[in-house]
Amino acid sequence: MNENLPFGRLALIGCGLIGSSIARAARASGACGSIVATARSAATRSRIAELGLADQVTPTSAEAVEDADLVIVCVPVGISGEVAAEIGPRLKPGAIVSDVGSVKTSVLSAMAPHFGPGIHFIPAHPVAGTEHSGPDAGFAELFVNRWCILTPPADADPVAVERLAWFWGALGAQVEIMTAERHDLVLAITSHVPHLIAYTIVGTAEDLQTVTRSEVMKFSAGGFRDFTRIAASDPTMWRDVFLANREAVLEMLGRFNEDLAALARAIRWGDGERLFDLFERTRAIRRGIVELGQDSGGADFGRPHGPLPPLPRPYANET
Ligand code: NAP
Repeated sequence: MNENLPFGRLALIGCGLIGSSIARAARASGACGSIVATARSAATRSRIAELGLADQVTPTSAEAVEDADLVIVCVPVGISGEVAAEIGPRLKPGAIVSDVGSVKTSVLSAMAPHFGPGIHFIPAHPVAGTEHSGPDAGFAELFVNRWCILTPPADADPVAVERLAWFWGALGAQVEIMTAERHDLVLAITSHVPHLIAYTIVGTAEDLQTVTRSEVMKFSAGGFRDFTRIAASDPTMWRDVFLANREAVLEMLGRFNEDLAALARAIRWGDGERLFDLFERTRAIRRGIVELGQDSGGADFGRPHGPLPPLPRPYANET
């Protein structure tokens, strides 16, 4: 197996924000020969066809994976085991199966038992997204300069891992490999707890009796606006993420609560030095993120920074 050649047939199980972005990017980059896609509802399946995202749209996941060289499961993590049970018996020997779930340990244990010895199962998580869902929300540049974390099991075939790493590289992503447990801990603090905080703050503001809803919206540029963008993220996806990554999220939330209590104490006792020291350290982290190219240093944080250079769009139904 040559690890740097395009895949023949790519099957996408689920074609929302992430699945449809993979379809667009794989087409644009030539990372696969053909694409077959499916989704749960007839409405989404016909939208996939209307948008020209796949060469073939099948009514079931089992049909989609037949003859596929690479299968990527792009559904909410809570149903990944169910999907694996359906596709397991229909996979082509030697196929690589992956996913895009935001949690890895639970996905690995839910999916792996359904795949036979000739199947290469390598979970993955592209750390890229928006608050939008569905096949219309995807775009080919979503993964450009973003990280994709692969969490291969200890006994994974290194060539299959290389093949998958090549695929994500072709879509513009930078690839990192780590264990599923490490992934879940790192993402708990960098993604899951921040989402929980955003959901909480926006919920608290909504509950306040003394502040009207119109005032909350009117003065949202004071910081609230950026939380509302995160808190608009898909409810099904995020319910599943918190339930699936319970241990790591609770561990990080415990630390966060302690640090928040310490800050509250500093405010109560007028300890400005402590506040200043922390804010200085956090500002350095923001600078580091900009230096790593993970965000723009522009003053309009939370608003578009200007488009990425578009990838070619060689399909008929989109401009
Ligand atoms: P999405 O836009 O809501 O799309 C989910 C897709 O899965 C839809 O096409 C849906 O079809 C399909 N689906 C649901 N149940 C299915 C089933 N039983 N069989 C086949 N298809 C099924 O969600 P998304 O944002 O792309 O998220 C998908 C995965 O990516 C999640 O695991 C999430 O953790 C991960 N992820 C998300 C982000 C992000 O920012 N959104 C970032 C990185 C990773 P219907 O439309 O017919 O329901």
